[in-house]
Amino acid sequence: MSRLAIGRSPSVGYYPAPPMPAPFTAELVARETIAPGIAELSFAMREPARLDFKAGQFVSMAVDAPAAGADPVPRRSYSIASQSDAGDVLRFIVRVIPDGKASEYLMSISLGSLVRMTGPHGFFLLDPSHPGDVVFGATGTGIAAVMPMLGELGRRRESGQETRRCLLLWGMRQEADLFSRQEIDRLVARAGAELHIFLTAPGPHWTDGRGRITPALLERLAEMVAPTFYLVGNGAMITELKRELISRGINRKTQIRTEAFFD
Ligand SMILES: Cc1cc2nc3c(=O)[nH]c(=O)nc-3n(C[C@H](O)[C@H](O)[C@H](O)COP(=O)(O)OP(=O)(O)OC[C@H]3O[C@@H](n4cnc5c(N)ncnc54)[C@H](O)[C@@H]3O)c2cc1C
Repeated sequence: MSRLAIGRSPSVGYYPAPPMPAPFTAELVARETIAPGIAELSFAMREPARLDFKAGQFVSMAVDAPAAGADPVPRRSYSIASQSDAGDVLRFIVRVIPDGKASEYLMSISLGSLVRMTGPHGFFLLDPSHPGDVVFGATGTGIAAVMPMLGELGRRRESGQETRRCLLLWGMRQEADLFSRQEIDRLVARAGAELHIFLTAPGPHWTDGRGRITPALLERLAEMVAPTFYLVGNGAMITELKRELISRGINRKTQIRTEAFFD
């Protein structure tokens, strides 16, 4: 039975609603440190064999062995960095937080471990179409959610569906933090997007943006045409940017989509 349903967006009419979340099990098949303090983990779907999800959605993972006692097993959410047509292996890009419960669990389990998850969750999804420019503002591992969205935009662009300008502002601390550059560059090129990286602590040879993405995005507002914003990552960035965009006349409901990873 298909898990797709029909939903209604107040701004854009009818569109296929995201698949319904359900429990599933996946096996850790690869884990690699891709930048200091950042790991990429791949989980092969086991039961069922693939997950139907939309670009931008996340899963909830049980980040402990099944509890012997009554305590519920702690859970954490992770955006799916895989392309949405590759639901047999789920990739995640995880900031390893010192002493973090999930971070310790995900970095200590051995390859071959089965992890219980539920998903796909969330409504941080690309609108079915855009009246104007598409603008992504991502900090840190927030780019994980943007990667499949860029892939989806690339596919739409190739079929002539999306022709407007697409802008991606990615905020990080320093050069060494940047990961998955080749893959991101490829996705950006296919989507016909412009990528600007902003570092808050760049080295002397850094030639792209400096500082936080909030002022950089606001400075570019005047040149944008009917933009739709997708903001993901640091919750404080999202709160501030949302407030500033609204105060400049951007419509909160129809033009801003957000996913906060933490406060
Ligand atoms: C919808 C959703 C999607 C998410 N997707 C991702 C993802 O793709 N990749 C990812 O790394 N995290 C993601 N997170 C955050 C993730 O769920 C955990 O909070 C994070 O991994 C820390 O868990 P922990 O148990 O190791 O540490 P905890 O002890 O629970 O957290 C310690 C502190 O770390 C900070 N923190 C949490 N996440 C981050 C982060 N990503 N970058 C910097 N500081 C952080 C917060 O201040 C938090 O209070 C997502 C969260 C949500 C709600």
